[in-house]
Amino acid sequence: MKRDSMKAWMRYVAARGAAVGSALTLSGMMMLSSGLGKTPALAQENRPRLSYSQLLEKIEAGEVSAVEIDSEQNLARVKLDSEKETIEVRIFDRNPQLLEALKANQVEFGEQQTASSSAMMGILTNLLLIMLLITGLMMILRRSSQATGQAMNFGKSRARFQMEAKTGVNFDDVAGIEEAKEELQEVVTFLKTPEQFTALGAKIPRGVLLIGAPGTGKTLMAKAIAGEAGVPFFSISGSEFVEMFVGVGASRVRDLFRKAKENAPCLVFIDEIDAVGRQRGTGIGGGNDEREQTLNQLLTEMDGFETNNGIIIIAATNRPDVLDTALLRPGRFDRQVIVDLPTYQGRLGILQVHARDKKLDRFVDLEAISRRTPGFSGADLANVLNEAAILTARRRKEAITPLEVRDAIDRVTVGLTLNPLLDSKKKRLIAYQEVGHSLVRTQLKNADPLDKTTILPRSGGLGGFSSWVPDEDIEGLYSRAWILDQITVSLGGRAAEVEVFGADEITDGASNDLKKVTNLARKMVTLYGMSDLGQLALENPGNEVFLGRDLMPRSEYSEAVATQIDRQIRDIAMTCYEKARRILREHRPLMDRLVDLLLERETIEGDEFRNIIAEYTQVPGQKLVKSL
Ligand code: ADP
Repeated sequence: MKRDSMKAWMRYVAARGAAVGSALTLSGMMMLSSGLGKTPALAQENRPRLSYSQLLEKIEAGEVSAVEIDSEQNLARVKLDSEKETIEVRIFDRNPQLLEALKANQVEFGEQQTASSSAMMGILTNLLLIMLLITGLMMILRRSSQATGQAMNFGKSRARFQMEAKTGVNFDDVAGIEEAKEELQEVVTFLKTPEQFTALGAKIPRGVLLIGAPGTGKTLMAKAIAGEAGVPFFSISGSEFVEMFVGVGASRVRDLFRKAKENAPCLVFIDEIDAVGRQRGTGIGGGNDEREQTLNQLLTEMDGFETNNGIIIIAATNRPDVLDTALLRPGRFDRQVIVDLPTYQGRLGILQVHARDKKLDRFVDLEAISRRTPGFSGADLANVLNEAAILTARRRKEAITPLEVRDAIDRVTVGLTLNPLLDSKKKRLIAYQEVGHSLVRTQLKNADPLDKTTILPRSGGLGGFSSWVPDEDIEGLYSRAWILDQITVSLGGRAAEVEVFGADEITDGASNDLKKVTNLARKMVTLYGMSDLGQLALENPGNEVFLGRDLMPRSEYSEAVATQIDRQIRDIAMTCYEKARRILREHRPLMDRLVDLLLERETIEGDEFRNIIAEYTQVPGQKLVKSL
């Protein structure tokens, strides 16, 4: 009997698994476990119990009035004459004996199936899982179809250009590039009163190319033209046209011109046009399909729109040499305006523009700042004044003082000041290097005067530095003597190391100086014709393969000349190095005193440096400079 009931039990479990008919093992297992955990017979503890054999006995004895058989759960619900409640009796899969006994004793019986609650649970779990799977699949499908849609609409829907109805900038905000301003004044008239020109039969130019280094104010200038003419300003960068998909750039160009035509008269500004307008069919592999298509589209659009319809395109680049010649022909960017780095006067003008909205102390001398910032672009100068204002706010001062301006210049050029080094051999070594540079500088006739020397470390990894005051009279035009002195000063650091610590103790700290020296010496020989090799330009700068035209940079000389160039460069470096060492050897006590002072103070200003030197020696013909 016991074995029989075990078998029945197992069949029961198997039957329930089959009833769900699940292909999912997971939910099958869940069902199994839930079935195991909750047996219906066990749930009815307080009811009177009957075993199968007892049931048969009761039927024989005529004590049973009705039986309801549930074949799904293998239960018989028995109604006894003596009991009010029905009693559940576990029965087998097939019960021929029971049926016979029921029939023989004429007991009323029937079949009623109740769905097992755990089986229902199983079905529900499975349904839920299937539904989850379907929703997941649908979401993935929808997302991928969206992506395809996006890829197809790349060029159209995501127009990357910006439109400003009013730029709020005018010519007063642009300083220091007067020539460019004068040339572009005309463009304002084209946009404002085109009749003035068309009446005479003149065609209004379509494109102007602004050529100049980054930060010289090309974008600002274009905005100022739009602002002066009171027309909308569209701007896009050349690199925005270039995409992974071929044809997208071209469609963006079409889009841009369509929008511009709708808003004419207007000004379209394309920054970094070299990103798309580079000479076609060049570079490694013969060029880039996408870029060329974009450029072709740009050329077609520029040809396509009728003249005098009030759209003027202004493009900016700092590499006009790499532009496709088709872009530069009349009818396209036929006007080219150079926007140079500002000169002394220009810088002063730019500083005045940016000082308008800043609170400056009365001691701040814009002329002095301009004098000390050759090579700075308009953007650099704007940055200096802004940094100075930030420093002033941080130091809780009322107005920007010369000190903040000086710190801001240092910050823009050499990075943030860090905490002073602790006294160590390293600090002493850096002090000797810096005093080496500065002392050599003060002893050379053609070198620019010293501004200051410091051993306060900077965020760029710089241990210290010495700055000088450039001579605005010769800005941008340097003599052989000046360059040679510059090389000698650069070698002052290494010369000091050797003089003081010996050849074995030299450090890699001079590597930047050496790079600068080699660079200058090479230029003297191969570009400026300043060596014994004669007045020849032996190299062709700016022919980098990735930017320009030639696949291989072409050298203009033979192997024999290459050897001579190397020798000349070495001669220049060696002569200057010997000179630097001689100067330092002759001033050894002075150098030691300056190093001690520098170690104590971290920074020595140019004037003080010169005063100390004057106690020891006569400074040959150097101008005294007014500090900031
Ligand atoms: P570019 O387009 O040549 O790279 P930007 O026109 O973007 O340079 O210049 C950046 C910022 O530098 C300008 O917003 C402006 O504040 C400042 N700037 C540059 N040049 C001048 C200038 N000539 N006059 C006044 N500010 C200038």
